[in-house]
Parts: sequence; structure tokens; C-alpha cells
Amino acid sequence: MFIRRGYRFKLKTTPDLEAIFHSMAGHARFVWNKALRLNLDRLAQGLPIVWYNDLCGLLRLWKQSEEYGFLTEANAQSLQQKLRDLDRAFADAFDPTQPGKRLPRFKKRGTDDSFRFPQGVKVENRRVYLRKIGWVGFFKSRDVIGEIKQATVAREADGWYVSIQTEYEIPDPQQAVGGMIGVDRGVAVFAATSNGELVDPINAYAKTMKRLARLQRRLTRKKKGSKNRRKAAARVARMHQRIRCQRKDFLHQISTRWSKSHALIALEDLRIGNMTRSAKGTVENPGSRVAQKSGLNRAILDQGWGELGRMIAYKLGERGGRLVLVPPQHSSQECAECGHVAPENRPTRDIFRCVACGHSEHADVNAAKVVLRRGLWILEHRLAG
Ligand SMILES: [Zn+2]
Repeated sequence: MFIRRGYRFKLKTTPDLEAIFHSMAGHARFVWNKALRLNLDRLAQGLPIVWYNDLCGLLRLWKQSEEYGFLTEANAQSLQQKLRDLDRAFADAFDPTQPGKRLPRFKKRGTDDSFRFPQGVKVENRRVYLRKIGWVGFFKSRDVIGEIKQATVAREADGWYVSIQTEYEIPDPQQAVGGMIGVDRGVAVFAATSNGELVDPINAYAKTMKRLARLQRRLTRKKKGSKNRRKAAARVARMHQRIRCQRKDFLHQISTRWSKSHALIALEDLRIGNMTRSAKGTVENPGSRVAQKSGLNRAILDQGWGELGRMIAYKLGERGGRLVLVPPQHSSQECAECGHVAPENRPTRDIFRCVACGHSEHADVNAAKVVLRRGLWILEHRLAG
């Protein structure tokens, strides 16, 4: 089986190199915006949009023109890649199975500075080779394993980063040995497992969250459009990035630990069940300071849930284990012992007490057991089918 891996490193830049990156990102953005404008105009006139192959033809014409001749300075494939991305964004927007998707938007300088290399990327020690740019050093934090498929250079709050995607083959896994767990996305905690483990990452974030709140307060006090406001906004952006890094570390830690000791992990498939979740999360008084703070924590952790699923999927896959996603509906109201579903089973946020059989447990642990039971059910029926 093939395993895909992603790596992200901070690039070592010089002012000259940054100027090149800015110009490359600018060219890619220009192509995206120009093709987007064209298609939006066509839609407004009731015409069908122009798809990737024809857009590539247009790109060739633009490059030959005097007006847009500067596009020949860019890596041709990075520009085509942007058109491919745009193609995908339009396809998603028109896809009836993805009702949440909207039409693609124009990219802005400062927030959308990225370009991709679908080919020709090489990594050697602490440097990466990018077409039309050459070798660029980076701060290496992990070894890059596998065949390099593509790389993306993007600007973030504190500098330029390269993301490298690789792929490698491992022998088809044997049936992994070990136990199984269900994991529920908790209310009071980040996650609970059917073994009774409650994972609370808030301590890991506490310091940075406090600092972020302070920086954000300071930002709102600055005059709009002022230099100080820009500086304050940059500080807030850097803090958000630090939190992203912490979240990633945290998710790597727990996903590695769980994957090592289990052959089967069942998680809720949160693509289906957002409705029940938001109802479950609004127990607290939304006006209170505590709720505001926990709302922020929640938002940051929510972004991590999908990432956790992906990490567990590949880490388990390498060991021959299995991730099963289960429908999350009413998992918080269902009794893990007898299966009785009732809102009355949840007298408080943290306590589960079944009105039918009397089973009583921490509410999030009970939900994790329900998730595991659903996972096993799905697996049995899949194997039987
Ligand atoms: Zn019961």
C-alpha cells in the first residue's frame, strides 16, 4: 500500500529571495484572479464557464502578449497549478453533494501568497530545489521520507514556508494485534475514549491563549489604518500561528499513542453531524467570560478534529490497524449498555444516567463507548457484505 506524508518547514530567506517569492506568488495570484474574473463574467452573461484545458490555452496566449509577457518569468507549472485549483474550486461550487461550497473568491496580496510545484522538486539535507528558483535552505525538523510528489511555498505571519508531499510504499499490513477504542469529541474535554481516558489539552494552550486574548484586546484599541494597528495585527497573526503549531504537536502526540496500542479506532464522522454538535456545545451561558474563553478554545480545537482523524488514519494504516468513522447522531443520548436513546439520559452536561437500565457514567466516556459499538457494527456488516 502507498502511504502519503506531508512535511512543512520554514524556509531560510534573504531579501532577494523574498522578492522572488513575492513575484512568483503574485504571478500565480494574477492568473487565478484573471481566470476567475473571466469565468464570473461568463456566468453573469449566462455563458458556460471555461475549464482547465481551455484556460491553459488562454494562459499560453497571455504569455505571448506584450501586456502579460511578464508571466514567462514564473514557473509554468505553478501557473497551470493555480488554474487546476480554480477548476477544482468551480467544480466543488457546482457539486450538489457539497452544498456548503461557494464560488471561488479573488485572492489578495498579503493573505493569499502561495505557489505550488507539481514536479521537479528535490530535497537534499537542509535544502529544497524549486524550479526557476534553485536551491533554498530550510530549518529541518524531521527527515523527509518517500518520493517527493509536490511542494507548495506559502507566506505565513512569520515568514515563508514550504510544504512537501511525499509518497512511499510499504508492504501490505498484516492484521494488527491490539485492542480497540471509540473516541468521542467531548464537551468539557477535547476527547474521551471508551477506556475512560479524558483528554484535556487546555493546559498546553493556556499560556498562549492568554497572550492571544491580550494581543487581541490591544489590537481593537488601535486606530483603524494606523501603522500601530498593522503591527498589532501582525502580532496576533503570529500568535495564531504558534497555536497552530502547538495544536499539531498535541494532535501528533495523541494520534501516535492511540495508533500504537490499538488495532481499531472508531471516531465520529463529523462531516455528517454538525447539527447535534452545536446543540450540545451551547450549554454554557454565552455571555460569560468563561464561555467566551472556552468558545475560543473550542474553535481552535474544532479545527483539529479533522486533522486528528487524518493522522490516526495514516498512523493506523501503517501498522495494519483500521479507522472506522461512524454516524454521530444522538451518540450523547444513547446508553452504551442497553442502547436506550433519550435526552433525559443526560441530567447534566457531564453525567450520563440511563433512565431505562440505570447505567451511569461520565457522559463523554459513555458516548465514546457508543461510538465504539457503532464502529464494530459497521465493521461487521462491511465484512459480512
Ligand atoms: Zn441503559
